[in-house]
Amino acid sequence: MCLPALGDYMTNLILVHSEVYAGWVFSDSHPTQGRRFDNARERLLEFALGTGIEILEVESDHFPERSQLERVHSTTYIATVLDEGMSGEWSGERHDLGNIAHRMVGGTILAANALIKGKTRTAVHFPGAKHHAQRDHSSGFCVFADLAITAKYLLDGDSGVRRISIIDIDAHHGDGTEALLRDDPRVQTMSVHDRTIFPGTGHADDTEREVFNEALPYGSGDSQLTAAVARFIGEAQRFAPDLLMLALGADGHDTDPLSTLTYSIDGMVDAVGMIREAFPDLPILIGGAGGYQPDDVTPEVWARMAIAACA
Ligand SMILES: [Zn+2]
Repeated sequence: MCLPALGDYMTNLILVHSEVYAGWVFSDSHPTQGRRFDNARERLLEFALGTGIEILEVESDHFPERSQLERVHSTTYIATVLDEGMSGEWSGERHDLGNIAHRMVGGTILAANALIKGKTRTAVHFPGAKHHAQRDHSSGFCVFADLAITAKYLLDGDSGVRRISIIDIDAHHGDGTEALLRDDPRVQTMSVHDRTIFPGTGHADDTEREVFNEALPYGSGDSQLTAAVARFIGEAQRFAPDLLMLALGADGHDTDPLSTLTYSIDGMVDAVGMIREAFPDLPILIGGAGGYQPDDVTPEVWARMAIAACA
């Protein structure tokens, strides 16, 4: 449970959200359905009731300058999405989706700003952690690499953040986040994922570049997840970050259709709790990454992991 005593903080948890995110629908039959974000918000507010957890909601209404996106993406690619409404993730001109993709980057930056201003220790943006997006193209339902953009924004600016560790427990390898940040010595990226599914990468560590991967066999469950997270915690303790980013995909859950993993909700909550316990005072920025049971399991997993992060 969250500490009811806020100390120097304004609130236990800041949730960056917008009803507009419900429109993140590439097609009616596509696994990605934006209503999962509204559902997760509702679940989170329900879970917080009676626990002493204070949640401050922030409207995700920030559209960052293109120069922010250019920290990791090519100018041409940004123009394709924002000017032409085009992306490899959908068919035809969809300016509505390009606009939401832009808003999603802004939401993660707003969450980061809340952390560095000391308003909370835990900031959540469920549509964040688009971890497959690459420099000049989208991939795996991810258009802009919000975690990588925000990491560069914090590290290059006057935030006081000098090092960032990113732990990704989504069922898929965080290949975009890794590729965009592996040459930056100020960032450590770690991913535990299903080795049998998309994108098929992330089978080895690259310790010199602070890249750590655990590619789990078909059907792996809670014990493999928590073992991987325990190893990542050790690497992060050595790296000594000023801020943690978590890609808390819900798609490793046993019943999720997009992976073979068999995590339970309790197992995923325990993994997040281990991270918070190891870094009790560190600012934690959470993105929801993937999760393809939009009406029940995904919102529940996201909400419970968010609560665990402020324990
Ligand atoms: Zn995923």
